[in-house]
Amino acid sequence: MTDCIFCNLEASRIEDENNLFLVIKDLYPVTEGHTLIIPKRHVPSFFELFEEEQSSFLEMLHSQKEKLASMDQTITGFNVGINDGEDAGQTVMHCHIHLIPRRNGDMENPMGGVRGVIPEKQSY
Ligand code: 5GP
Ligand code: ZN
Repeated sequence: MTDCIFCNLEASRIEDENNLFLVIKDLYPVTEGHTLIIPKRHVPSFFELFEEEQSSFLEMLHSQKEKLASMDQTITGFNVGINDGEDAGQTVMHCHIHLIPRRNGDMENPMGGVRGVIPEKQSY
């Protein structure tokens, strides 16, 4: 797609790839190492991925997690997230999966993690 930022990434931003996915560092990282896993095919929703893409994505997710954890011993956890649809907060309408490294003490009370999409519902 001509006007899609993830269809037109500069080669220098691509950290890794396999036949179906690209990996970049998020431009506005939530934590150091915040990574995006992006299908090469322009598709807005994760739920539109073909089966072959879904399994390729899982392989890439595992390999990126291993890579981050082995390069940075301060990482003690991960959040994996997809904003799927504008009402779920998606701003770039080309599917991408966030892999966000977490570190002990990086926030006062991490309880609830991705429940923080609705901040007052994060803790329970
Ligand atoms: P989402 O659609 O999941 O809400 O957010 C898009 C994500 O893409 C954000 O975390 C943003 O920081 C990231 N991102 C990575 N590269 C770019 C870029 O070149 N432009 C923009 N606008 N966002 C980028
Ligand atoms: Zn695209």
